[in-house]
Amino acid sequence: MRKKLVAGNWKMHGGLAENAALLAALKPALAGIEAVVCVPFPYLAQAQAELAGSSITWGAQNVSEQAKGAFTGEVSASMLLDFGCTYVIVGHSERRSLYGESDELVAKKYLAAQAAGLTPILCVGESLAERESGVTEAVVARQLDAVINAAGVVSLAKAVVAYEPVWAIGTGKTASQEQAQAVHAFIRGKIAALDADVADQLVIQYGGSVKAANAAELMVQSDIDGGLIGGASLVADEFIAICRAAAK
Ligand code: PEP
Repeated sequence: MRKKLVAGNWKMHGGLAENAALLAALKPALAGIEAVVCVPFPYLAQAQAELAGSSITWGAQNVSEQAKGAFTGEVSASMLLDFGCTYVIVGHSERRSLYGESDELVAKKYLAAQAAGLTPILCVGESLAERESGVTEAVVARQLDAVINAAGVVSLAKAVVAYEPVWAIGTGKTASQEQAQAVHAFIRGKIAALDADVADQLVIQYGGSVKAANAAELMVQSDIDGGLIGGASLVADEFIAICRAAAK
């Protein structure tokens, strides 16, 4: 049985006091449930201090493709490791669309994360225009191929894939359970054609306006192995309910 894994993406939200309250609420409520919080860089030390020894792991939302050097403002994978990160999100649609990250750059970030021993959460997903023009699978395949060509399909044994339709992120519009399951099955099938064992074990999260109210119907789908949660991960009761729905 594949594990289910829910990760929170706090985006550029939070502050020391708010985070402390949120983490203090999550820790006892999620005892024994594996979950992840991806916090802004400055709060990694806080996450490490608050969460060490709990079943909640933490990670970052971006990483440099470079190992070290004169790259002002960048943060390397080994720096994330210094703060106990397990995961790092790469290729989030906001990074792709707002910061111009190409498939090739995302693949380099994925490689840098894995080289340091971090588990990348690789985000893929189509825009609304792409869905409406019938190229969802082609877009997702292209995004996956960039990583598979650079790192090999076996690298996915140490990664998580998050399918996040761009039109569903932060919009309140969730993909229906059928729409999400169809793309998840496509992703698993594409990888299975290259390596059946890797595909079978791969955790594929769904992301896009997941809330406590719609989590259960998504999490029971056979190829949905958890979620990448934005807005609802900032509300303790919502995130706890989503993690519990996935863990059932
Ligand atoms: C996200 O940030 O990856 C995300 C899915 O956001 P939301 O849950 O708010 O749609």
